[in-house]
Amino acid sequence: MTDAANNEPLRARIIETCRAMNRVGLNQGTSGNLSARLDGERCLITPSGLDYDAMTPGDIALLSFDGRWSGRSRPSTEWRFHRDILRHRPDAGAVLHAHARHATAIACLGLDIPAFHYMVAVAGGDAIRCAPYATFGSQALSDAALAALDGRKACLLAHHGMIAIGETPEKALRLAIEVEALAAIYLSARQIGEPKTLPRGEMARVLRLFATYGTPDFPDDELRRIDER
Ligand code: 13P
Ligand code: ZN
Repeated sequence: MTDAANNEPLRARIIETCRAMNRVGLNQGTSGNLSARLDGERCLITPSGLDYDAMTPGDIALLSFDGRWSGRSRPSTEWRFHRDILRHRPDAGAVLHAHARHATAIACLGLDIPAFHYMVAVAGGDAIRCAPYATFGSQALSDAALAALDGRKACLLAHHGMIAIGETPEKALRLAIEVEALAAIYLSARQIGEPKTLPRGEMARVLRLFATYGTPDFPDDELRRIDER
């Protein structure tokens, strides 16, 4: 195995991110899976059905996008959607899948998460789509997920769970946590009514602001450094 494929630190980060996903209540048991890109045709991916607490770096499988793999443990049954997302989305360095309680509850109703809250834009658009149901591990599920992710960094999977992508495993987890929080708020709001959605123009403005949110370039004409003339 080449040094790049061995990539022990990345294997350790994959495991730590999976443990964090269960620890923060985003997932449970051996559900969910995580991959991280090595290059244009290979990734590292969690093994199928193995407890995250028992997982060691040697259990993380090396997967070529043509379906060949190596390692001690067989790759996740969801290797197809990990492969297809990494192949078609150059912005994705990592793909995280979880059976998060609130996101999955909405997915079990086959609903998108609409623009009921401005933070829905964190996934890249004015709704977080729900992909139609297909059997876990199937190419049909991968096709549906890829379509639901078009122009987005997260989607729901009907009667199943959610997917979040990011440049790194940690960023994918951070987005998945935001989506789960939005799902929880949306479910709460729908207990007593049907929340209005924000207009398209407003969501477009939020998306523009998100491009620089958290950086010094965030536009605010009235805010000046005290030591600036
Ligand atoms: P794996 O254990 O094979 O990754 O499957 C878990 C899962 O969530 C299937 O959708
Ligand atoms: Zn799943």
